[in-house]
Amino acid sequence: MRLENKKALITGALRGIGKTIADLFIAEGAEVWGLDYKTPEDLSDRVAAAKGKLHWVELDLSKIAEIDGVIEGVVKEADGFDIVVNNAGITKDNLSFRMSLEEWQKVIDINLTAAFFVSRTVARDMIRKRKGSIINMASVIGIHGNGGQANYAASKAGLIGVTKSIANEVASRGVRVNAIAPGYIDTDMTAVLPDEVKNKMIDVIPMKRMGVQKDVANAVLFFASDESSYITGQVLPIDGGMFF
Ligand code: NAD
Repeated sequence: MRLENKKALITGALRGIGKTIADLFIAEGAEVWGLDYKTPEDLSDRVAAAKGKLHWVELDLSKIAEIDGVIEGVVKEADGFDIVVNNAGITKDNLSFRMSLEEWQKVIDINLTAAFFVSRTVARDMIRKRKGSIINMASVIGIHGNGGQANYAASKAGLIGVTKSIANEVASRGVRVNAIAPGYIDTDMTAVLPDEVKNKMIDVIPMKRMGVQKDVANAVLFFASDESSYITGQVLPIDGGMFF
């Protein structure tokens, strides 16, 4: 029980890595507020299985103007969070010279701007309580770039910059901010890639496999727990050695 008596807000908790993080946190004793743009069909089953440890927040993070108000309300309802995981993210891939403003803006809004507004709103309360851990889901693409993903790369590179900047602002108040940079992980986001692309990627990964969602969730758990209490402003790649 590495998160006993901790309260966590996790964005993008409907499916994929966010759901796996939520399940792991609950199993480790945390009370979790899962946030997503829609409510899962099996919410009542999930809430029942979590035995009172799962609450749900419906918010479309592309509606930036709504974020402050909703998150302030959730912080009040929870009486503050010990952990926040900015996990929600999307891709809208296209070659740069074909990319529309909509494809650019939506990815920046959800992956970067929303994470910034959620972070600073929860951090206000964390600073008052002089404790807290914020974990941002970046990507190896935010460090290395990728053809066809200029919008996504910019959003994740920006998120790394936000991580280090806020970490610097709040470190002396007992609040830590770190980022995770997953490589190629088996989720709905990567399921849409053609087999040819998938095989090419696995070929360049020294560990010769895609990551599983638990590989990422375990690292998030480390940053969320007190085991990482002297670590802040860092970016941890989880990529099977893809970029070492
Ligand atoms: P996913 O598509 O399975 O899950 C993304 C989650 O974000 C979903 O629950 C979705 O509903 C939610 N979301 C999307 N738009 C939203 C909005 N407007 N408002 C609220 N919630 C919204 O993807 P995943 O692979 O689990 O990705 C999770 C995070 O990990 C993302 O930030 C992604 O960029 C990052 N990541 C994934 C990989 C990978 O290989 N899968 C690699 C690097 C980084």
